[in-house]
Amino acid sequence: MAKGKIKVETENIFPIIKKFLYSDHEIFLRELIANAADATKKLHALASMGDFKGEIGDDTIEVIINKADKTLTVRDKGIGMSQEEVKKYINQIAFSGAEEFVNKFKDVSESGNIIGKFGLGFYSAFMVAEKVEILSKNYKDEEAAHWECDGSPEYHLKAGKKEGRGTDIILHIAEDSTEFLEESRIRTLLEKYCKFMPVAIQFGQRSEWIDDPEGKKDQDGNVEKIEQKVDNIINNPKPAWTKVPADLKDEDYKAFYRELYPMNFEDPLFHIHLNVDYPFNLTGILYFPRIKPNMEVQRDKIQLYSRQVFITDSVEGIVPDFLTLLHGVIDSPDIPLNVSRSYLQADGAVKKISNHISKKVSDKLEELFKKDRADFEQKWEDIKVFIEYGMLSDEKFFERAQKFALYKTTDGNYFTLDELTEEIQAAQTDKDDKTVYLYANNLDQQHTYIKSAEAKGYKVIILDSPLTAHLVGRLEQHLEKATFSRIDADTIDKLINKDENIPSKLSDEDKEALKPVLEEVIDKERFTIQFESMNETDQPMTIVQPEFMRRMKDMQAVGGGGMAMFGNMPESYNLVVNVNHPVISKALTEKSKKKKQDILKQTADLALLSQNMLKGEELTNFINRSIELI
Ligand code: ADP
Repeated sequence: MAKGKIKVETENIFPIIKKFLYSDHEIFLRELIANAADATKKLHALASMGDFKGEIGDDTIEVIINKADKTLTVRDKGIGMSQEEVKKYINQIAFSGAEEFVNKFKDVSESGNIIGKFGLGFYSAFMVAEKVEILSKNYKDEEAAHWECDGSPEYHLKAGKKEGRGTDIILHIAEDSTEFLEESRIRTLLEKYCKFMPVAIQFGQRSEWIDDPEGKKDQDGNVEKIEQKVDNIINNPKPAWTKVPADLKDEDYKAFYRELYPMNFEDPLFHIHLNVDYPFNLTGILYFPRIKPNMEVQRDKIQLYSRQVFITDSVEGIVPDFLTLLHGVIDSPDIPLNVSRSYLQADGAVKKISNHISKKVSDKLEELFKKDRADFEQKWEDIKVFIEYGMLSDEKFFERAQKFALYKTTDGNYFTLDELTEEIQAAQTDKDDKTVYLYANNLDQQHTYIKSAEAKGYKVIILDSPLTAHLVGRLEQHLEKATFSRIDADTIDKLINKDENIPSKLSDEDKEALKPVLEEVIDKERFTIQFESMNETDQPMTIVQPEFMRRMKDMQAVGGGGMAMFGNMPESYNLVVNVNHPVISKALTEKSKKKKQDILKQTADLALLSQNMLKGEELTNFINRSIELI
């Protein structure tokens, strides 16, 4: 029997490992099963190269709890290890990995911010076990090896007795970790980390009800069902993302979505199958989920794998920010796992991966748009949040999105920005040669404004997402000579000012006379009076909210650097008075001040009412006044 001391600088690294990994103890299971799967795949590789000529047979990995012995065993039927190999692979390689880890993180503060997620390998077993045994027999069928270590740097290695090929890793679970002897706990962990590992994993058994083989019938004449225990396989070794896209149908993608999110009952809108092998390795499937209105968008739905081993579901820094709203799986052995998150974000390879994913997503969107525009238009309302968010947060995506980002007009048609520009340019260019893009964010509330724009033959687009203020700013920057104006930002002739002056029926003195009377009946702090010479048939008074201030406030509401000052400003509006309207002339010529005020007040209230801005006592007064008038 060989007794040795593991070469290590630190007196005893296990307490350190334990402490550092406190919150992540559970990953030991992933590490051991990943090793078991590797050993199994290596055997298959040897067989296909002709180096292993024996019978592989059943290669299922087994996870076994023995409560009486307080052990948890991971058993594989892979290549196995001889005594020499255990010395080499476990005592040297595995340990050097663990030592390297400790050295790297020894100096980091205890605050626990060191860990992204990483593979510590075999030695992570000591996070939960007071003693670990390895019983292994290699594929060459040499004498089995029995290794034992209690967490001190000393190990025992001797010949062992083992029936078949492969390795048992036997953990003697420590007093403080008995949770890992609970079936339900282990099942949860297997579900989380091993659901798509590439070799079948069996844990316990499950019941299956089959027809009685002897055909025994019950009272009603039906064949009786009998319970049969079958091995419970917890994983799907060939998940959809590892398959060739051409071999998968739409149904398969949907089925895989349900496999990923059993609690999500809605089918996704569409998927993107990622498949890259140069300059890095990446596979995966991303889904555009259907977002329900007013539902909190769920982030952290994308799962990151490395060769089918689950790593994390917080992919921040790896996937472009706006794509964290998507669902699905990304699998890449090229994403460094044993580093902190901030390192990950700065990592060049990770940036490349992120850019690539962004490009793939825009390619796919463009393809969908080109292939079936009507279908794309139908999905638009569901996907526009992603796309607008992407356009604002990713410069390249903004450029690419010009091909498929859509703008819906109030008459129900969809345009790309280029198409829209062409459509409106002739009619909606103002005296300064700027094309004015009119938009509305609330069809009901802005109904009157929209109607007056439509009456002039103008197109109004609907932009109703929380990102609109940012988006229109970005679009103005992109387009030359363009302004975006919300439809209620001014009267339509001011919004698209063509310098067609309508003569005013009121002189400047008339306006001066009218102003103080009007100011007495409105809230001067909130409303600025603006006299306009409009058509007689236009509304006598209208409330507008100038674009700039409103936009700044909107931007501030969803967060945007430097906008804080606007958030604190009170809402301010302009009360536009159409000096050519007969009601205004009437107010002017009215002799009694009281009557003058009544006319102006009533008209101003009507303007407020059409904006749903007349509330409380003011509204009651208005109603009473109206009744008196009748
Ligand atoms: P890593 O897997 O990152 O190489 P580990 O510490 O997990 O590091 O394992 C060290 C080595 O021990 C592995 O590279 C492998 O050669 C060997 N090994 C570990 N577990 C098994 C196993 N179940 N069967 C065969 N070899 C194993």
